[in-house]
Amino acid sequence: MLGNMRIETLPGAVVALPTQMLRAALDFVLPPRCAGCGVQTGSAGGLCTDCWTKTRFIAAPQCNQCGYPFELDFGDGVRCGPCLSRPPYFERARAAVAYDDRIAQIVISFKHGDRTDLAPGLAAWMRRAGGELLKDADLIAPVPLHRRRLFSRRYNQSALLGQPLAKVAGVPFIGDLITRQRETESQGHLSPSARRRNVEGAFRIPAHRKEILQGKRVLLIDDVLTTGATANAIARRLKREGATAVDVLTLTRVVRETSV
Ligand SMILES: [Zn+2]
Ligand SMILES: [Zn+2]
Repeated sequence: MLGNMRIETLPGAVVALPTQMLRAALDFVLPPRCAGCGVQTGSAGGLCTDCWTKTRFIAAPQCNQCGYPFELDFGDGVRCGPCLSRPPYFERARAAVAYDDRIAQIVISFKHGDRTDLAPGLAAWMRRAGGELLKDADLIAPVPLHRRRLFSRRYNQSALLGQPLAKVAGVPFIGDLITRQRETESQGHLSPSARRRNVEGAFRIPAHRKEILQGKRVLLIDDVLTTGATANAIARRLKREGATAVDVLTLTRVVRETSV
């Protein structure tokens, strides 16, 4: 953030306020609220203690490919049943936390509620979950929104998460590496096979980005991994266009208690 922000006081008169003072003033008017449940918290951009303790961070043991958490440790490099029977195009997917109502609320306020102040904290969670992926990445790219959706929302939440991660990894962040050709129907209510059909052919690599892709290991950033259909379609496209490998890092992923 900027060290100082300029505040108009009287017409023509401008004074500079230190950011901390401005933040204190804003906190007085709008006390910081927990990103998960909305209760008042001590600091901006965080979670209350209750939400923090209930957040399920994902860690090993997990499927070496899709990152699905295992109940038991089967050893390194083990893959889950679905990955063995129908391997995804991406090499590895990792997510910071298991999706639940609380995380859904965070994602909604981050996506639609202008809580862009949450980005650094959420990216820090992802950094912990995706350390290996960040170490191996040659470049980082976000899952794109369609232009129309980007216009109405004004920012791509995946880009806000990807930029600080690229800085940490010391690799280029390429916001327009992938474009969304057509607006895919909202995925929420679709069955897995309908989701696959919905995203097939929806993504393109623009001509001016094809060169940078050659021989590279791409780290794809998104907020939520549901079935993996979107990540898989993009990984397939990236590899067809010259990427050697694709990893996927998301803030959260759906973990179904009954499967695997
Ligand atoms: Zn809370
Ligand atoms: Zn798997």
